[in-house]
Amino acid sequence: MFNLILFGPPGSGKGTQSDKLVDKYGLKHLSTGNLLRQEIADKTPLGIEAKSFMDKGQLVPDEVVIGMVDSYFEQHKEARGFLFDGFPRTVAQAIALDKLLELKKTNIAAVLALEVGEEELVKRLLNRGKTSGRSDDTNEEVIRKRFAVYSNETTPVAEHYKKAKKFKSIRGEGTVGQIFDAICEAIDKKIQQ
Ligand code: ADP
Repeated sequence: MFNLILFGPPGSGKGTQSDKLVDKYGLKHLSTGNLLRQEIADKTPLGIEAKSFMDKGQLVPDEVVIGMVDSYFEQHKEARGFLFDGFPRTVAQAIALDKLLELKKTNIAAVLALEVGEEELVKRLLNRGKTSGRSDDTNEEVIRKRFAVYSNETTPVAEHYKKAKKFKSIRGEGTVGQIFDAICEAIDKKIQQ
């Protein structure tokens, strides 16, 4: 299996790039944000619990998210590899993911981190909020809260993968095509190793 993590703050373009990457490399897209929004749309107990956190810009509890990822693996045993988007978002999630992959006799090949300045991110998210129907993108206070959570809880995840020498920063500003090319170049180097 070949597994990648697309890392970066809210609005850094992970969703856009993921769609293109899964097509090119034949990976299964695992976006915990998308899975949670589906649970909310289906009005499941998990979705109802998650919504109260998401609306405030807080993280959904680790055990809920890890359980959801585990059942996604169960449902996609045939996958050639996964592209993780928006996960792991805490060090506890990263450690849980390492263990789940170990059980599948595989690991993370690389973590590709999209770097975008905060003002550009706020602009993109408010813009997305106008059309996405995502309530967490229309309120600037909720957006700022998500950045604070990102910097406190998610930035340490980068350290986890830097220690394992799997972390690669990529400039996340420019056209969608330029950024995609930069990501692909990093992946192709990794594949050749
Ligand atoms: P963004 O990265 O733009 O904030 P996502 O769709 O990845 O969008 O996530 C939306 C919300 O879903 C987050 O603010 C958080 O509340 C919740 N969420 C998504 N993934 C996770 C995760 N791995 N752990 C905890 N909460 C999560």
